Amino acid sequence: MSSRVIDFSRYSSIKIGPTLNVKVIEAGDDIPKDYYLIGGANNLLLSDNPPKLMILGKSYDYAKIDGNTLELGCALKTGRLLSFAKKNNLAGFEFVSKLPGTIGGMLAMNAGVKSYEIFNLVESVEINGKWIKKENIEYGYRFANLGGVATRVRFKVEYGYNQELKDELLKLRDNQPKEPSAGSAFKNPEGDYAGRLIEAVGLKGKRVGGMAWSEVHANFLVNLGDGSYKDAITLIEMAKERVKEKFGVLLKEEIKIL
Ligand SMILES: Cc1cc2nc3c(=O)[nH]c(=O)nc-3n(C[C@H](O)[C@H](O)[C@H](O)COP(=O)(O)OP(=O)(O)OC[C@H]3O[C@@H](n4cnc5c(N)ncnc54)[C@H](O)[C@@H]3O)c2cc1C
Repeated sequence: MSSRVIDFSRYSSIKIGPTLNVKVIEAGDDIPKDYYLIGGANNLLLSDNPPKLMILGKSYDYAKIDGNTLELGCALKTGRLLSFAKKNNLAGFEFVSKLPGTIGGMLAMNAGVKSYEIFNLVESVEINGKWIKKENIEYGYRFANLGGVATRVRFKVEYGYNQELKDELLKLRDNQPKEPSAGSAFKNPEGDYAGRLIEAVGLKGKRVGGMAWSEVHANFLVNLGDGSYKDAITLIEMAKERVKEKFGVLLKEEIKIL
């Protein structure tokens, strides 16, 4: 099994974290149980001492169509999926534009935009070497209980790439901050928006060290240049405490803290 040195202050979308040796898992390798799997680190906040990490290698970075079935390796990046969909006139994947990450990360997070979520399209997922039908996987808003490492995923092929839909969904991204972030920090509580609650307790734009709750979208924790794990955690705890105190709502992290 090979490994790769990753500097998380560059690799992660929020630009925080140490440089670490990460185990690379290729097709045919046994999957170690005591390692935490990462994808593109677009939804992660790494401390200085995270668990041992692993990542899927090149043999899981592919897209292929076989008859009526589209199969993707879970290391494939969403940007490549979108160009594959466009090139092959596939319908359904327009929402992944500007949704950064790998297919594995998308599955684990049931990532999506508005009512478009990856699990709407999934047929089956290969988890720890076994194909599991979607019906047998528990999933919901921004979570899926995969119970292991997703290595490949299959979809039924639907034709008709929709450029207009893609452009429309892309426009929704205009209100997102330009600074490095890990997307939404908290999940939206039922019937409300985490961003609204953070703003209502006066934290929109609040800065601690090099991190801040964004002026543009209060649920985005942004790195203003030299933000640290400690700054980020301070802001997360502050938001949870104030929102609980004022609204009685316990915000739940969407980002994974390692
Ligand atoms: C600017 C910005 C905007 C964003 N906008 C959105 C949005 O609109 N909607 C949305 O849903 N998300 C959004 N995100 C979050 C992010 O894009 C998604 O969560 C994405 O799916 C993460 O993929 P990743 O490969 O980077 O996963 P990582 O961040 O590396 O990992 C996330 C989780 O997935 C697990 N995981 C990764 N690969 C696998 C695998 N193969 N098998 C099992 N588990 C795995 C990890 O263990 C971890 O728990 C945004 C992020 C950024 C930075």
